[in-house]
Amino acid sequence: MNMNSVSDISFRDKQLIPIWNKVQNGERLSLVDGVTMFRSNDLISIGKMAHEVQQQKSGDAVYFVLNQKIEPTNICVLSCKFCDFATKLGRPNAYEMTIEDILSKLTPEIHEVHITGGLHPDWEWKYYLDMVREIKKNFPDVDVKAFTAVEIDFFHKKFKLPIEEVLLQLKDVGLRTMPGGGAEVFSERVRKLLFNQKIGAKTWFEVHTTAHKLGIPTNATLLYGHVETYEERVVHMMKLREAQDETGGFLTFIPLAFQPGDTTIKPKDEFTSAIDDLKTIAISRLMLDNFPHIKAYWVMLTEEVASIALNFGADDMDGTVGGEKIAHDAGAVSPMTLAKDQIIKIIRDAGKIPVERDVYYNPINIYTDNVIGKIPYLNSVPFYSHFEKRQFRILPVAPRRMGKLSSKELIDAGLFSLMSYFEQETNLELMNYCIATRDQVKSVMLFSKEGWNGLEGKTIGITDDTATSVRLLQVLLKKKYGVKSTFERMHSGVNDHSNFDAVLLIGDEALRRNKYGLPGFELVFDLAREWYEWQKLPFVFAVWALKKSSPVEKKTELRQLLQSSLEKSEAALETIGALHGMRIGLTPNETKEYLEGFSYRLGEREREAMDVFRKLFDEVAVSV
Ligand code: SF4
Repeated sequence: MNMNSVSDISFRDKQLIPIWNKVQNGERLSLVDGVTMFRSNDLISIGKMAHEVQQQKSGDAVYFVLNQKIEPTNICVLSCKFCDFATKLGRPNAYEMTIEDILSKLTPEIHEVHITGGLHPDWEWKYYLDMVREIKKNFPDVDVKAFTAVEIDFFHKKFKLPIEEVLLQLKDVGLRTMPGGGAEVFSERVRKLLFNQKIGAKTWFEVHTTAHKLGIPTNATLLYGHVETYEERVVHMMKLREAQDETGGFLTFIPLAFQPGDTTIKPKDEFTSAIDDLKTIAISRLMLDNFPHIKAYWVMLTEEVASIALNFGADDMDGTVGGEKIAHDAGAVSPMTLAKDQIIKIIRDAGKIPVERDVYYNPINIYTDNVIGKIPYLNSVPFYSHFEKRQFRILPVAPRRMGKLSSKELIDAGLFSLMSYFEQETNLELMNYCIATRDQVKSVMLFSKEGWNGLEGKTIGITDDTATSVRLLQVLLKKKYGVKSTFERMHSGVNDHSNFDAVLLIGDEALRRNKYGLPGFELVFDLAREWYEWQKLPFVFAVWALKKSSPVEKKTELRQLLQSSLEKSEAALETIGALHGMRIGLTPNETKEYLEGFSYRLGEREREAMDVFRKLFDEVAVSV
C-alpha cells in the first residue's frame, strides 16, 4: 500500500464520505462531523479513517514507557461523585506515603514516574517540592510527570502562590511534564451534576497553557461513558484542539472510559462497550488533528480492546504502570501490572513497532527487526510517499534520535542526518540518495534578535532534534562570520524562547515559523542560503544509509523500493506533500515549490559538498 495515500474505504454509512473528503483535504472537522461519527454504526470505516491519519503521524510506531504510578495519598478534601479512590483523614482505609515510601517504589530501569493523588488537607508545600527533588536526586534518569490541574489549582489556593509560581517552583526541582487528569468533560452541565467541587474548564486550561508557556508539556484526558452527551464529548475535543493551536504543548490525548464501581452514577456492571471505546479513540484521532499522540489506556480499556485500538488511531499504550489504584478501586479488570513483554507482544500482534519512549516521546529502544527510520518532516515525503513496505516497518524519528538508535543497531536503514552518518560511517553503507539543497531551504532557520555579528557571546537555543544543522550553524558562525556564541539545547515541543538571543529551528516547525514568524525574533536567516552564498555548493542535510552488516538481499530490496518510490514521487511533486504541507499551514503551491528546492540524489556535487563541510567542521570542532 502507498504509505501516504489513503486506502480505499467501503463506507457502509454514506454520511461519513464528506468527512473523509475533509480529512484527505486537510480540512478541520466540525462539531457536526464529530457527532455524526458518534451516531454512526459504521465503526470499521471510522477506525480505518483514524488508522490512516495515525499512519501519517506516527507510521508503524506504538509507544510505551517503563513507568511507575505513585499516588502519595488517598486522603482528599473533595468528594467527587465518580471517585472511588478518595477517603477522609482518620478513616481506616486512609493512607499517606512518606518520601522514603515513594522512593522505595522506584527502580532505576523505569523512565517515568507518574504522580497524582488526593488533595491532602495538611501537607505543606515543602513536602511536594521535596518529593520531586528527592526523586530526581535518587533517580536522575527517571522523569517526573506529576500533578493534575486540580492539584496545581489546589496548591495555588492553599499555599497562596500564583499558578505560574507553583509550576515554576516544581519545574525548578525536576517536574518535566504533567498528566491530563481533572479535565473530565468540559461541560458546565456535567460539572454541576458530577463534580461541582472540582475546577471547571477555565481553570484547567489556565493551568495547562501556563505550563506550556513555561516549557512543561502536558497531556489531556476525557472521562466518557457516564452522563455526558456526544455533543459534549466533541466540544471537549474541539476546545483542546483550539488550545493546542495556541501553545502546541499537548503531547497526548487520553480518552478514559468511566468505571462505574460503587459511584452510584451507573450500575456497577455498566462498563462502556468496546464499540464505544474504539469509536471514541478513533474520533479523537480524527478531531484532534494537531495532537501528536492518542493513548489507548489499557488499565481502563482492558488489554484486548487496547490492542484493537492500535489499529483504530491510537499510537501509545501508556506503560508498565505499577500500583495503579484509582481505576482498580473502581473495578477495572486489567491486571495491576502489565509486564513489558506483554506490552511488546500486544503491539507486535497489532502489526506495529513496539517503541519504548521517554516522557517527551523520544524513542529509547525498539523491539522489532527491519525498521527503517523516517525523518518526519515534509522534505522527506518524496522517499516515503510511494514506499512499498513489504518486510519493512517505518519509524518516524527526529534526525538526532535516529542517529542514537542507529548507534545501538536498532535501525536497519534510514535517512540519516549527515552528522549521524559521519559518526557511524564504519557501520553504515551510503546509498545514492540524500536531501540536499539547491540554494535555499527554508526549513533550517535561525530566528534572531541580532545580526550575525551581534551574536558574539550570545546564547542560541537549538532544537533538541537537530544533529547536522547545529554543526552547520557553528561552522557559519565561526568560519564565515568569526563569531563565538554559546548553545543551549531545547527539548522538542513547547519552549520558552524569551531567554535566548536566537533560536535554531528545523523541519516543519521552521517552515511554519518562517511563514508565520516567531514573536520576538525579527531577523530570520536561512542556513542553507548562507552556506550556498559562501561556498557556491549545495548543502547535504541527510543521506540514505543502511547497516553494512545487512544481508545482500535486504540491501538490494531496499534499493529497489527506494528507487521506485522516488521515481513515482518525483513525477507527482505537486500532490505528494500537499496534505502534509496543509497541516503546517502551506498552500499546495508553496509545498510543491519547497519540495522542488531539493536534490534527492547523491551526485558528484553533493559528495564534494559533504567533503568540504566535513573539513570545515573538523577545523571548528566545537562540542555542544
Ligand atoms: S477525583 Fe481527585 S479531587 Fe476528586 S475526590 Fe477523587 S482524588 Fe479527590
